[in-house]
Amino acid sequence: QLKFAESLSRLGTESAFEVLARAGKLAAEGRDIINLGIGQPDFRTPEHIVEAGIKALRDGHHGYTPANGLLPLREAVTADLHRRHGVEVNPDNVVVVPGGKPTMFFAVLMFGQPGVEIMYPNPGFPIYESVIRYSGATPVPIALEEKNGFAFSADALLSQITDRTRLIIINSPANPTGGVTPKEEIDKLVKGLEAHPHVALMSDEIYSNMLYGGREHVSLLQYPEIRDRLIMLDGWSKTYAMTGWRLGYAVWPDACVDHVTRLCINDHSCVNAATQFAGIAALNGPQDAVREMVAQFDARRQVIVDALNGLPGFRCPDAAGAFYAFPNIEGTGMTAREAQDRFLNEAGVATVAGTSFGKWGEGYLRFSYANSTENIQTAIERIAAIL
Ligand code: PLP
Repeated sequence: QLKFAESLSRLGTESAFEVLARAGKLAAEGRDIINLGIGQPDFRTPEHIVEAGIKALRDGHHGYTPANGLLPLREAVTADLHRRHGVEVNPDNVVVVPGGKPTMFFAVLMFGQPGVEIMYPNPGFPIYESVIRYSGATPVPIALEEKNGFAFSADALLSQITDRTRLIIINSPANPTGGVTPKEEIDKLVKGLEAHPHVALMSDEIYSNMLYGGREHVSLLQYPEIRDRLIMLDGWSKTYAMTGWRLGYAVWPDACVDHVTRLCINDHSCVNAATQFAGIAALNGPQDAVREMVAQFDARRQVIVDALNGLPGFRCPDAAGAFYAFPNIEGTGMTAREAQDRFLNEAGVATVAGTSFGKWGEGYLRFSYANSTENIQTAIERIAAIL
């Protein structure tokens, strides 16, 4: 009998992948399944990006790259950050990794150990709590409530900081709620953190290109006073429909760069070279495809929010960003998990129970609208028929 490490039992998972597997199994059995469960764009990676990856392979870029990423890629990142957020970043502070997830893992490993506290949004991306528990640190949830548009309250957050707090994780636009935190709350958080100089902040801005209704993204990079303890996570997966390429980055404070680079060397050496060339083409090339994709998400968002609000027992707040709607379903009399299972098994519609994103997700269901308007409409009709 194998004797596994105790830490392994603390590692969680991302239920969206389990729903994807169940939906795939039902589809293989011949069922017609509409997948509103998984958080990935339903578009192809734009052609010029694909071509750049192929060209890199043909040109012989088959070897290791620097562990922190190719310099032209890190320079393309800093130029993009300047264009989008109006900030100056040194390419030496950019560390390229395989996707968005490694940055959260490395940030938590860097600060997490028994006896320390790490704060994270709840409901929120499930990997935060999973890796915090894995590190042995105590996870301290930051409650996100529908009445605040699923944005954190800076006062409530600041009041939870103790001398054991080492890292705070925030995420806007947010998964699973689509919530966007208003600038006033971010201002207040940054101001309040002055009193806690021992606390690092990780801002997950992977959906920073996806805000609707005239909203503009506020990047934590725009606050010079916390640059020395800010980890800003972003990547290519969502913006350029590149989830399967595995490419992401973070801007790290000076004090963390060597530590994270060693974590990269120990973990994966570097991101594969061809993918990095594709990443350069994505950032330096035309951005029309991104604009078109976001416009489509916006149109579908309006369709799905209206349709969900028309379902008996559903109440769906405005979805301000990302590509998720997060309706309250308490009026149906079902728990989140019951609704997820019934909608998948009886209606052939995959969604993800709010409880997959933390205990405060009970009573909610996540719908990804990264699917065609036609499929969204059919899915809602099928759910209506059950209700
Ligand atoms: N951060 C958030 C909030 C996400 O929702 C996701 C993906 O769903 C990621 C990070 C990770 O993205 P990647 O696929 O690049 O690891």
